[in-house]
Amino acid sequence: MKVEKNLDVTLVAMAVAPVVVVALVPLGVLAVAQAVAQELAKVVVVVHALMEVEVGNIKLLTGTWQSGIAKNITFIVTKDCQLACRYCYLVGKNEKERMSWDVAKKAIDYILDHENDMREESVVWDFIGGEPFLEIDLIDRICDYLKTEMYRRNHHWFNSYRFSFSTNGINYDSEKVQRFIRKNKEHLSIGITIDGTEVKHDLNRIYKETGKGSYKSVVRNIPLWLKQFPNGGTKVTISSADIPYIKDSVLHLYSLGIHEVNINCVFENVWKEGDDLLFQEQLMLLADGIIDKGYYKNYACSFFSENIGKPLDPVLENNNWCGAGRMLAVDANGIFYPCTRFAQYSLREKKVWMIGNVNEGIDKNKLRPFLALDRISQSSEECKSCEVASGCAWCQGENYDAAETSTIYQRSTAICKMHKARVRANNYYWNKLYRKLELEGQREEYEKNKKEVKQEIC
Ligand code: SF4
Ligand code: SF4
Repeated sequence: MKVEKNLDVTLVAMAVAPVVVVALVPLGVLAVAQAVAQELAKVVVVVHALMEVEVGNIKLLTGTWQSGIAKNITFIVTKDCQLACRYCYLVGKNEKERMSWDVAKKAIDYILDHENDMREESVVWDFIGGEPFLEIDLIDRICDYLKTEMYRRNHHWFNSYRFSFSTNGINYDSEKVQRFIRKNKEHLSIGITIDGTEVKHDLNRIYKETGKGSYKSVVRNIPLWLKQFPNGGTKVTISSADIPYIKDSVLHLYSLGIHEVNINCVFENVWKEGDDLLFQEQLMLLADGIIDKGYYKNYACSFFSENIGKPLDPVLENNNWCGAGRMLAVDANGIFYPCTRFAQYSLREKKVWMIGNVNEGIDKNKLRPFLALDRISQSSEECKSCEVASGCAWCQGENYDAAETSTIYQRSTAICKMHKARVRANNYYWNKLYRKLELEGQREEYEKNKKEVKQEIC
């Protein structure tokens, strides 16, 4: 009920603001009109904040905040990290390239000065590394400046923004990070990466200095994180050596209280003979675990989706999979990229794809190939006519890195057999679940409260 009330107040404030301005301008009191409109707009900000607090499970209902509607702008604040994960695609991590305040401010000024080029109704200010929280002082300063500037300019994003972090969780409980969280709580999304059981996590996520696993340093912060973000989800990345641990890992994450597990196979060509069959077997065991223990009622795992494994219409379902080109990333040197995956530190084979810099701005010509991308234009005949194409993802950066020439129009299909295995396991999962629900007369109830995690691949 409270939520509805708050929504009403928001709508009233939004409706009243332009009327007040129109009424006062002819009276020659433009400054007063603007001030009144700004005060009303502040009400909207406060009410939105309340709404997010009170609708505690909004993430459960909507997946990633404003997914597909928001502009995603990423600050690569550092290329350093405490860990040296074995599967990390960031091949050029280093301790030297840390963003300065001067570069961050120039990037923000450029972006906010070009409001007309970025008309998305919301914005996600994303911070990555390396490990972003290594640069918490800079991040705090950036966020303060963004809030002040969006307000001062009356920018259309000033009441519709998020600060988003994907962290290894190691210094989550530090005083500085906690102070930052308290200050920005209403506009924050934070995901902690934990890969599953201790064995699975420590297989890959090891300390740079010692080579030891980081599980214990991360898991101790999970209760605090879930207290602050009860609907926090985690991302798990699977490569060849991880396959045997999938079932135990997902169930372990559920047992820690994490309700959303976003899990993906890496796009790189790492898969060995027989990996697909092992993967299918693990997913079927996981399906049994989820269904037999009743986890399907309140927990979700992105591997299981009713929307995958169907043919796609070449005209109506022809979107590009990812947001590269519609997103924007900036690094410590002040260089703009179509996505972080096109920065040199994440490319193995190819040269960096820059689209501008904080001094000269964005060269729109360099973005053109991205804006024309769709599924058909980069897919082989086999993919175009594939019977199980839906949900078969790709990463534009990996496509570019893996292609024979310097093109983004050649889809990498290293994931093909893993996707097909996932489809087979999904058929098993949904058949088993619906049979059980029908037998128990629970199908209708389940459909009403169904919870699904949208597959996020980066
Ligand atoms: S990569 Fe394989 S599974 Fe995916 S669409 Fe192409 S043929 Fe189908
Ligand atoms: S899928 Fe790859 S290219 Fe696309 S937005 Fe994610 S990291 Fe960037």
